[in-house]
Amino acid sequence: MKNVLVINAGSSSLKYQLIDMDDESVIAKGLVERIGIEHSMIKHKPTGKDSVQIEKPIGDHVKAMAYVIDALIDKEHGVIEDLSSIKAVGHRMVHGGEKFSSSVLIDEEVMEAVKENIEIAPLHNPANIMGIEACRKIMPDVPMVAVFDTAFHAKMPREAYLYGLPYDAYTKYKIRRYGFHGTSHSYVSKKAAQILGKDVKDLKIITCHLGNGSSIAAVKGGVSVDTTMGFTPLEGLVMGTRSGDIDAAIVPYLMNKMGMNVDETIAYLNKKCGVLGLSGVSSDFRDLWDAANAGNERAKTALDVFCYKIKKYIGAYAAAMGGVDVITFAGGIGENDGPVRALACEGLEFLGVKIDTEFNHPLRGRQAVISTPDSKVVVMIVPTDEELVIARDTCELVLCG
Ligand code: ADP
Repeated sequence: MKNVLVINAGSSSLKYQLIDMDDESVIAKGLVERIGIEHSMIKHKPTGKDSVQIEKPIGDHVKAMAYVIDALIDKEHGVIEDLSSIKAVGHRMVHGGEKFSSSVLIDEEVMEAVKENIEIAPLHNPANIMGIEACRKIMPDVPMVAVFDTAFHAKMPREAYLYGLPYDAYTKYKIRRYGFHGTSHSYVSKKAAQILGKDVKDLKIITCHLGNGSSIAAVKGGVSVDTTMGFTPLEGLVMGTRSGDIDAAIVPYLMNKMGMNVDETIAYLNKKCGVLGLSGVSSDFRDLWDAANAGNERAKTALDVFCYKIKKYIGAYAAAMGGVDVITFAGGIGENDGPVRALACEGLEFLGVKIDTEFNHPLRGRQAVISTPDSKVVVMIVPTDEELVIARDTCELVLCG
């Protein structure tokens, strides 16, 4: 058995999946929540067995990792005999900067470089690093791989990644578009081509990853040539709680008006905006539809703003690629929310996009073509699997390569 443990560490959470790479099946998965906060807990789901949920104090990521291992080897709800069954660990890293354009085996040099990127990714990389360090403490001899959200976008052309700032801002301070959700955009674009029986090299695909964080990528011939997230994951679409694109002059204006310092402003733009801020209801689309259907105008407006922005970028990326063959929807919203998919594609008939509205509406969480047979552009739901991409890269670098 070639078991790969996939770790996605956030500041107070740690998601894991143990995947058997012989057949790419998930053996167990789970989540440690509220690390370092009261009521921390581990939710563990062994495949084919009941899930377990244990609440106990979990002060840091090392403890969290130790409990993950305990859960995996537990006599009752465990799935492996001992630690030696884990052959490699793949870590999700949010920001690889310009240094990492593909996944890498983690060594001291990589750790140094990853730490250097903390400056440009202060909200994400420190948590990812804590996850790696916790694993290295508990499994010092197991090879580990870092898989970067930014890597798939590393081949974007200059005109797509440069901002209209003095060139020094790029050369001195590394300010450019990096793009995120790369593992998802990469997986979905390849999978869509595979489902259609075509070579990804022959396709222009617009991949819409719509979850708590949302982004769109223009994938031409298998290469990401533009994407909506930028220097950080704050740019682009309106998201659950993030503002997406705004006029930069709004930032100092808001700071003055609301008396916020830099950290407070960053927290505001990341956590209080998006559809949550617009609606005043929730960042969850199920709540938004419930409220909108009950007559809440702001919830309806938030949904309209969210979908309009998607449509606008689909148009922009069709222009960027000189056409579009396929549009895909993935992520918690993209896979489950038929009305959002329909609204985002409404009015795109001029591009050759025709949705089968009745078929699309109730579809949840499964792969399907939702465009009509005579639609020039194929519109599809392609459930994403970021953990599998991380496990595949890890396997390729340390086990199968
Ligand atoms: P993350 O970016 O955290 O990985 P997900 O991709 O899991 O997020 O997406 C989470 C979001 O998906 C939720 O906030 C919710 O808005 C949306 N979602 C999940 N299930 C449904 C559903 N059945 N209908 C509409 N939206 C849903």
